[in-house]
Amino acid sequence: MYDVIIIGSGLVGLGVANALQEHNRHLKLLIVEKESGPAAHQSGHNSNVVHSGIYYTPGSLKARLAKQGNQSMFAFCRQHDLYHDRCGKVIVATQLKELSLLENIYQRGMENGLAVVRLSQNELKMREPYVNGLEALLVPDAGIVNYVQVAEKLAELIQQRGGDIHYHQEVVGIQESSSGVAVQTQSAQYQGKWLVNCGGLFSDRIAKLAGYETGMKIVPFRGEYYVLNPDKNYLVNHLIYPVPNPDFPFLGVHFTRMYNGNRDVGPNAVLAFKREGYRKSDFNLRDLSEVLSYRGFWKIAGQYMGEGLAEIRRSLSRRRFTENARQLIPELQPEDLQPGPTGVRAQALTYEGKLVDDFHFVTGSRSLHVCNAPSPAATACLEIGREVVGRYFGEIVVNKNRLWR
Ligand SMILES: Cc1cc2nc3c(=O)[nH]c(=O)nc-3n(C[C@H](O)[C@H](O)[C@H](O)COP(=O)(O)OP(=O)(O)OC[C@H]3O[C@@H](n4cnc5c(N)ncnc54)[C@H](O)[C@@H]3O)c2cc1C
Repeated sequence: MYDVIIIGSGLVGLGVANALQEHNRHLKLLIVEKESGPAAHQSGHNSNVVHSGIYYTPGSLKARLAKQGNQSMFAFCRQHDLYHDRCGKVIVATQLKELSLLENIYQRGMENGLAVVRLSQNELKMREPYVNGLEALLVPDAGIVNYVQVAEKLAELIQQRGGDIHYHQEVVGIQESSSGVAVQTQSAQYQGKWLVNCGGLFSDRIAKLAGYETGMKIVPFRGEYYVLNPDKNYLVNHLIYPVPNPDFPFLGVHFTRMYNGNRDVGPNAVLAFKREGYRKSDFNLRDLSEVLSYRGFWKIAGQYMGEGLAEIRRSLSRRRFTENARQLIPELQPEDLQPGPTGVRAQALTYEGKLVDDFHFVTGSRSLHVCNAPSPAATACLEIGREVVGRYFGEIVVNKNRLWR
């Protein structure tokens, strides 16, 4: 009998396990993961950026946990001698109409209590000589790490402290009762007192297995990157971001200086025809038909048809992708870019067609479901774990026999 069973060894599941052990070393913990190691999906297929929290609505969980997460992620990497580089990020307005949006972001940064510096065109040129911009913001706290390395270290620490991680175990059934929860995989059954669902791209289906309707569906969006040819690395010094579209803050190709010396360009965002579909040709009938029969999807598709089609065109043509990226670095040519990695975002969408913006949890009688953990959840994973423990597990950490609500 485990005290807590966590589904998923992405950064969020690992962050929750880490925080539970921080509060009570004696809890008997199990992480059940369907893949062969940690960070096999979103946590290992992302931009590796440690965000600062500048974009997020003041007072939201994202704003608070990104800010705290930025500090704790860098501290974790320092403590364990993992790669990290607080290289800073510039957000660049390339058109006059973006200047007021840039100012809004500055104000938001102030409200969120962040260090943000306004850069004139000349100051931007001194930092990023090849970037075309009218004005920019410098966010010195943003940086990069290697999230796979972070996840591997977390998994190692969790096991050293006595936690179990069982790989190759896909959860296919969940039975809650008044005294605990039974978790069924294809080859084993586990008993626990409490369950935390950190299933990322499958978190909605896992909640359903436990009998909970979350009121939202995960819609997978594939993000495709290009990599700059190494002889063009000089074009990018920092992390370079465009001013985000306030309706779709995750859209907008950016340039990222990576831990391996590469400069990644991307990602875009196109509907994936499979929840873990990393290639354009990947397709899963159940995944796709669930999206296409979902009212929320058609509502948002109707509303933002133009943006969606533009993303698809950019996905199909390197030339169009480059045109978009050239708004920031005009010197860029299609032949400077080679196809790079891809990732799939788990974006929760409500039945009414609203993208769920903030981190979102649903509680059951013996289970907690992390139903929306999009970016900056990698940055914030240690803090999401602490939030979950503080909000929901406070009581069992003190007295294992009490309910969490
Ligand atoms: C393209 C892209 C770029 C991003 N860039 C950034 C960034 O720069 N900075 C940042 O902070 N965030 C970024 N993010 C967001 C960040 O990567 C995610 O928010 C975060 O990794 C989510 O972690 P997770 O643990 O919830 O999900 P995941 O990492 O997807 O983990 C979920 C785990 O659950 C497992 N699982 C699912 N179903 C089952 C089952 N039935 N049984 C057992 N196991 C199961 C999966 O195998 C997986 O390992 C990006 C995301 C993407 C896709």
